[in-house]
Amino acid sequence: MRRWMIAGNWKMNKNIEESRKLAKDIVDFSKKVESGDIVIAPPFTALKEVYEVTRGSKVKLAAQNCHFEEKGAYTGEVSLPMLKDVGCTHVIIGHSERRKYFSESDNIVNKKIKATLKWEVAPILCVGETEEERDTGITEYVVGTQIKKALKGIEFSEKLVIAYEPVWAIGTGKNATPQQAQEVHKFIRDVLRSIYGEKGGNLLILYGGSVTPDNIGDLISMEDVDGVLVGGASLKSDSFIAIIEKTLELK
Ligand code: PEP
Repeated sequence: MRRWMIAGNWKMNKNIEESRKLAKDIVDFSKKVESGDIVIAPPFTALKEVYEVTRGSKVKLAAQNCHFEEKGAYTGEVSLPMLKDVGCTHVIIGHSERRKYFSESDNIVNKKIKATLKWEVAPILCVGETEEERDTGITEYVVGTQIKKALKGIEFSEKLVIAYEPVWAIGTGKNATPQQAQEVHKFIRDVLRSIYGEKGGNLLILYGGSVTPDNIGDLISMEDVDGVLVGGASLKSDSFIAIIEKTLELK
């Protein structure tokens, strides 16, 4: 049985006080949770404070990005040892917003994944097709290529998490149907098996893209959907907690 994971990506939102409060609500709720993983990814500026709130609880701390080098002249960047130092156990890699607005290539994503595993931080690797790519019928080609390039030369690790995030569904209110998500998740699982053998098929695969308390039930019920990466609905404790509650009921 694969465990479930619900991860919240706060993006460039929340000051320190707002972050502390949201984290505290989630930590309080998490006391009732026994299975699965709850992960939150606040902005860099709030990581330290949120770590103090989550320390010793079930809630794990993620960064939204990292640099692949350990240290040096990389103005504006944050390294994995720095993220570990502040208490991060996870880091989101290759989010479509980073690929689109910061020209993050598959090659850079590959270097980042290598570095995360070296530092024993769990990468949440985001992949997904644009609307145009889906319309032209090349979703599997695009997603398969992103995964193969991201994982090139990387040994199997149980820490590796994949998030399937169709670009057209992120922040648009237009989520993939449960069937569309299931189809791509099954394909991703097969790709992971082709790379790592049977154990590759046990890695966690999350869905991301306009997940809300209203649509989580149908998505999380799909066999190959192990959890979700949530943007907008993770910014309020009510909606994030409702998503976890529904997952607890169905997984
Ligand atoms: C995301 O940014 O990873 C995401 C899935 O955002 P949203 O839930 O807002 O679509």
